[in-house]
Amino acid sequence: MRLATVEQGGRTQVVLVEPENRSFHSLEEVLEQPVADLLSIIPRIDELRASIKGAAARPPISGARLLAPIPRPPRNVLCVGKNYHEHAHEFTYSGFDSSAATSADAIPTAPIVFTKAPECVIADGADIRYPSGVSDSLDYEAELAVVIGRRGRGITKATAYDHVFGYTIVNDVTARDLQGRHKQWFLGKSLDTFCPMGPWLVTADEVDPENLSVKCWVNDELRQDANTHDLIFDIPTLIETISAGMTLLPGDIIATGTPAGVGIGFKPPRFLKPGDRVTVEIEGLGRISNNVVQVISPNLSQIVPGIGSIE
Ligand code: MG
Repeated sequence: MRLATVEQGGRTQVVLVEPENRSFHSLEEVLEQPVADLLSIIPRIDELRASIKGAAARPPISGARLLAPIPRPPRNVLCVGKNYHEHAHEFTYSGFDSSAATSADAIPTAPIVFTKAPECVIADGADIRYPSGVSDSLDYEAELAVVIGRRGRGITKATAYDHVFGYTIVNDVTARDLQGRHKQWFLGKSLDTFCPMGPWLVTADEVDPENLSVKCWVNDELRQDANTHDLIFDIPTLIETISAGMTLLPGDIIATGTPAGVGIGFKPPRFLKPGDRVTVEIEGLGRISNNVVQVISPNLSQIVPGIGSIE
């Protein structure tokens, strides 16, 4: 089941997606009840499955625009650093890795967990803001993201997947200069628009997360091409580690790490520039594309001071 959040006529709603023709069916019509947001569906997923048969017979809604499946996550997006072998080496040797004192530290012995501010989530098709004057070292990171559906603390590897509601795609956009300069990664990972997510959520029953191809293009050039079976710490290990002393909650998102091929893996580094288009595709989950632009819109400049002055 593919669930998306869309905007239609100024209203946000949750829809069922038919990916072949990108048609959307309103969940409020399928369930014949109000649906507040995508996360509110989690406890009602069995009810939705029972109601779904008639959905295809209904006319799809028109004029809808995709938002991120969880447009504003309830907490910071949890992320994992250096979780593919080849990428761990390219990052450590790049000189931007404040987590490794020497090359002997390239492969982590425990998951490196950091977070991104939830306000930086944007949708498929939305612009990534090029933060002139703040960073000139923007990089892309294609990642499989896990969406937690059931709360828990002390979750074991054996039961970890019982806590997963579904999966989506995240581009963990990063300001490498800030990531290196400030040691802690949070700032360089959390600039406005730095978390493209989508295009929708695919429920866990339809995904084998341990064998998915992950690809990323910058413009038409394939930069990342890997498979999730190469994760250093698999999803059950990540869930067990994070939840050991911290309760995971429904709606928590774990971006599982990016494979080799990011901009700093090249010599010299190949950072994103205004005008570039970044596309991330994960097998069975779809693809997201986002343009890098110098100024996003007059509207955002009203919300975030300073954006309007960088033209
Ligand atoms: Mg990442």
